[in-house]
Amino acid sequence: MSRRVLLLPGDGIGPEVVREARRVLDWANARYVLDLSFVEANLGGVAIDRDGAAYPDATRELARVADGILLGAVGGPKWDGLPAADRPERGLLAIRSDLDLFCNLRPAMLFPDLAAASSLRAELVSGLDVLIVRELTGGIYFGEPRGISVRPDGVREGVNTDRYSEEEIRRIGRLAFEAARKRGGRLCSVDKANVLEVTMLWREVMDSLSAEFSDVSLSHMYVDNAAMQLVREPRQFDVIVTGNLFGDILSDIAAMLTGSIGMLPSASLNADSCGLYEPVHGSAPDIAGEDRANPLATILSAAMLLRYSLSAANAADDIERAVSSVLEKGLRTGDIASGENDQQILGTEAMGDAVMAALQ
Ligand code: NAD
Repeated sequence: MSRRVLLLPGDGIGPEVVREARRVLDWANARYVLDLSFVEANLGGVAIDRDGAAYPDATRELARVADGILLGAVGGPKWDGLPAADRPERGLLAIRSDLDLFCNLRPAMLFPDLAAASSLRAELVSGLDVLIVRELTGGIYFGEPRGISVRPDGVREGVNTDRYSEEEIRRIGRLAFEAARKRGGRLCSVDKANVLEVTMLWREVMDSLSAEFSDVSLSHMYVDNAAMQLVREPRQFDVIVTGNLFGDILSDIAAMLTGSIGMLPSASLNADSCGLYEPVHGSAPDIAGEDRANPLATILSAAMLLRYSLSAANAADDIERAVSSVLEKGLRTGDIASGENDQQILGTEAMGDAVMAALQ
């Protein structure tokens, strides 16, 4: 049966980068006979303008039956004056919660030719390829009780609750083990089990899952050490799995190691492995419509879509290799150019052409 891919170009540079990613998806569809069908819908500011809501009903219906979703970016100055509840970014929160996307995958890959862009020395990061698996719908960001109250003695007090059930830990753990199995076979679970009971349970559940995945080697690390190791020797990691709060922080550290926001893909998955795939960057209104946006983060997000939601790992490998070979030739968009003379600066579409040429 044909599998449905929903494209949500969104706002700003979103349509420009999704257009280029669609070309590699079309290529994969033909090359590997994947029987994909594509449909496009509105999300974010464009949806507010055309349909009166950031996550319109028509988009919701298509999202609920899609096998995978590719998003550009949402938001922009045009909608900045709207009340918080009506802004384009609400569309993103709404689709994440509607589809119960509890598993966030953030790879931090550093192509060898971009090592100079990292905040760390090239020899520490060249070839870096870490995947951070972050639980996205539980933990301290959602736990009850929460709030700010006034104690009987008149002093104000703030409270948040870090809470995870065994089931929540098991479902994110299982996806992390599966991801590790598709990569280097090493999973590091990050917690603070020396202090926090919620993460003692986290560690226990990860250990119990380990029996089901004998081909994956599981290790544990405290979060303070993990933060230190990520900047000391980041290439020691293959896959890291952690809760919502620790994942938020560690994924941003890992992202900085790669140096360029225009290169970073991401995915958020639910229990059916349907996922929303999107570049980490926003809608970049400052360069929208100028053919200057780097499409590679979205092209790499399309590769993740093929790998994690469409079981087309070969196609994903080909696309990642094509991106790597384009960089090797010295082809760059403005955001990843380092000023060396052997580099050629391309626009969005020409970078898409270069990836297509490398694929063919
Ligand atoms: P941004 O990521 O859009 O831009 C930050 C800087 O990086 C800008 O200078 C931009 O030109 C540059 N940049 C970003 N992506 C690039 C690319 N692919 N190629 C070349 N340069 C690129 O972040 P911002 O400026 O803070 O936010 C702009 C808008 O995007 C806001 O409305 C914000 O709410 C929204 N936003 C959306 C998402 C999302 O849709 N997931 C994420 C972050 C921000």
